[in-house]
Amino acid sequence: MVDIFHEEDGDISFLEGKTIAIIGYGNQGRAQALNLRDSGLEVIIGNLNDKYRRIAMNDDFPVYSIKEATEISDIIFLLIPDEVMNDVFEREIRAYIQPNSVLVFASGYNIGFKQLKPPEDLDIILIAPRMIGVGVREKFLKNEGFFSYIAVKQDPSGQAKQTLLALAKAIGTLKKGAIMISFKQEAELDLFNEQAFGPAFGRVLLSSIYTLIEAGYPAEVVLIEMYMSGEMAYTYQKMADIGLIKQLDFHSQTSQYGAMSRGIRFRNLPYKQKMNEILEEIQEGEFAKEWKKKITKLKFKMIKYFATKQKINKLERQVRKNLKLKLYDIYEENPPTKEELSELKEISVELDEFKRYYE
Ligand code: NDP
Repeated sequence: MVDIFHEEDGDISFLEGKTIAIIGYGNQGRAQALNLRDSGLEVIIGNLNDKYRRIAMNDDFPVYSIKEATEISDIIFLLIPDEVMNDVFEREIRAYIQPNSVLVFASGYNIGFKQLKPPEDLDIILIAPRMIGVGVREKFLKNEGFFSYIAVKQDPSGQAKQTLLALAKAIGTLKKGAIMISFKQEAELDLFNEQAFGPAFGRVLLSSIYTLIEAGYPAEVVLIEMYMSGEMAYTYQKMADIGLIKQLDFHSQTSQYGAMSRGIRFRNLPYKQKMNEILEEIQEGEFAKEWKKKITKLKFKMIKYFATKQKINKLERQVRKNLKLKLYDIYEENPPTKEELSELKEISVELDEFKRYYE
């Protein structure tokens, strides 16, 4: 049984007199800053001088450079993208952080996979919402709360857990529940969802779409059937609200019988084996190592270039036009430059495989 914490477990008054710096006023940064301030805490923002800084100023926060905000705060939330966090920490935070401060993460990635090594005299804690930033704010305003995973990595003050629970309450997550795990487990779960469930689901979705299109059904009805109606999202919400099996009651008897009686035919697909492979790679830190390599950023760009050339991209746009839905620009990655292509030579066989996969 996991340790799960609720409203009565956090005491916001424990943070009285403390200044909290939110570094990065993006998706999570804005939502968490507003929630903490509405809970009566003193919040300042540290951000580069650009669009996000102006949004923070419009929201009436005192805004500083990252260095300044770090220097004058007791609790520092690192709410910038995980892939730049270590660089920003080394350049603009490490030398300016006051002794005995608290460092708060919203993702276990950098600590869990040892990409960032903080000083030993800091309390290191995690509040990782299972919710996008907009949801973190909306659920707070509706008094509903949202689930989070929380963790303590370093506790030199002996008060890290008290600070953690007070902050979790002020952010609004204790209304629903915060579950204690480790930084590494949080990161592994997150990556597994993105790398195993996401692509497997995407693959099944695309196979279903092409099965129907090849069988002669018009693209408009196929895309509406498979995702554009939004019915799937609704079903997913019902799974969360009342239960995976219980939500079947919202579907007709024909639908239930059909799904359950045919479901058995998919039992031998090798998904489980692939998922175990992917989980193992994540747990052993192989993915984190791969993502850190310079060549991987270029490989990512190339894979995205191939992926955005998939025929579903154009087909979807045509369908949206026919259905008189709002049209967005088709997302297309710029082709690689000559220099990039020459750097990519060493992984050309692997890239060819991606190219064929997305054709
Ligand atoms: P965003 O991409 O929304 O963060 C943008 C912020 O980071 C902006 O303020 C941006 O400022 C700043 N930033 C970006 N690059 C740099 C840089 N090189 N130097 C300094 N500042 C930079 O991030 P998220 O809110 O999505 O993620 C923040 C953390 O929250 C991550 O650890 C993430 O894993 C975690 N998280 C995110 C969730 C989500 O739903 N998005 C859910 C749960 C956790 P500027 O543009 O001015 O540079």
